[in-house]
Amino acid sequence: MSDLNLSGRRVLVIDDQPFVRRSLVHILANLGAEEIAEAGDGDEALEILAAAAPAIDTVFCDLQMPGRDGIEVIRDLARLELDVGIVLISGEDQELLSAAANLAAEHGLRVLGNLPKPVTAEQVSALLQPMARGPRRGGGGPAVAVDAGDLRMAIEGGEIVPYYQPKIRMATRSLESVEALARWLHPEHGIISPGVFIPLAEENALIDEVTAVMLEQAQRQCSQWAAEDLSVQLAVNLSVDSLERLDLPEYLVGVTGEAGVPPSQVVLEVTESRLSDNPTALLDITTRLRLKRFELSIDDFGTGYSSLQQLQRLPFTELKVDQAFVTGAAEDEKARSILESSVDLARRLGMKIVVEGVESQADWDLVADLGCDLAQGYFIARPMPGEEVKGWLEQWRQRQT
Ligand code: C2E
Ligand code: CA
Ligand code: CA
Repeated sequence: MSDLNLSGRRVLVIDDQPFVRRSLVHILANLGAEEIAEAGDGDEALEILAAAAPAIDTVFCDLQMPGRDGIEVIRDLARLELDVGIVLISGEDQELLSAAANLAAEHGLRVLGNLPKPVTAEQVSALLQPMARGPRRGGGGPAVAVDAGDLRMAIEGGEIVPYYQPKIRMATRSLESVEALARWLHPEHGIISPGVFIPLAEENALIDEVTAVMLEQAQRQCSQWAAEDLSVQLAVNLSVDSLERLDLPEYLVGVTGEAGVPPSQVVLEVTESRLSDNPTALLDITTRLRLKRFELSIDDFGTGYSSLQQLQRLPFTELKVDQAFVTGAAEDEKARSILESSVDLARRLGMKIVVEGVESQADWDLVADLGCDLAQGYFIARPMPGEEVKGWLEQWRQRQT
């Protein structure tokens, strides 16, 4: 039946309804799965998983089952630390299915997708397509083995450099600012993403050094652009760890002063998820940063737990809505609701509204309609080396005409 190659896959189907189970087994067999086991409930599933040799690598699991339900099975899979991909199936509504998928992902399980019942061969094959083609572990690319010692040398050796991603003023379609995003240009591993080395830097007290090399290079780039008649604001990412240093405002004034960039041209982005770590110190430093005229942005808004009270008491000037509520929001009612309320909230609080993750014309049209101030995303540009920005800007201007 298929051009898919599931050979070598060892699958377990867990569903209390024999008919559903049989039809899924039939579909998987047609797709070429090597071994297909069946379980009528969670307990039976656990026994099979524990006994299977070679191990099961893919689990299809129903949510609604008598005895142990699908959520409890997810919990067990996580507890047993089994390396399996999981597909959730259910006759319940899509919302419940996505909540369960989120839960599985939060437990660290590899979620391959979810399927509403009745399950069809087309759906299963679409879901398994990337798995059949790609590497076993999804997402993130190959893991690179680097440690704190490597990172320290990389910082000293100039291997940490900023890439720049434009933020566009929607009303005029003009370039308002660029965000500096760190890249590690590793001589052997190639470009290592900040998702890998920023947490490493935070855990090993190296984050201030990363911030310093980023700031110095980005400021130098900005003053060079200014000399070439390109005036842009600069956004840099700050870890909450750095915001706990009481001398941060002085330090930042020092660096910007040396490069001749006024603080009002600099936006400091801080992720929302950790804003509540040390409330008093945070209020102290953010207030002093504002006194010195830096702009302050709450990054990844919607992913953390900042209370409305925190938003009211901290002097942030910009709210940057996380891409999870922007990319594809036109087709996703829940995401759109969160996006709309965030925009509304920011406006009421007198904050500038930035959206990230604008990936398509549909995303752009939606956020333009909502009256967002600035937009950022692959639809406009991907992060790029400093020397490519002017060339991109020329193309962007041509795209407008
Ligand atoms: P962030 O600050 O939220 O940056 C946005 C991330 O989304 C960037 O990933 C960017 O490349 C990506 N992105 C931009 N547009 C789109 C889009 O349209 N679609 C999608 N799917 N993604 C988009 P990147 O560069 O890998 O950075 C990841 C995170 O690492 C950043 O998230 C930021 O939190 C952190 N980071 C980067 N540089 C620094 C730094 O110098 N210092 C600190 N403390 N953190 C940094
Ligand atoms: Ca950011
Ligand atoms: Ca973000």
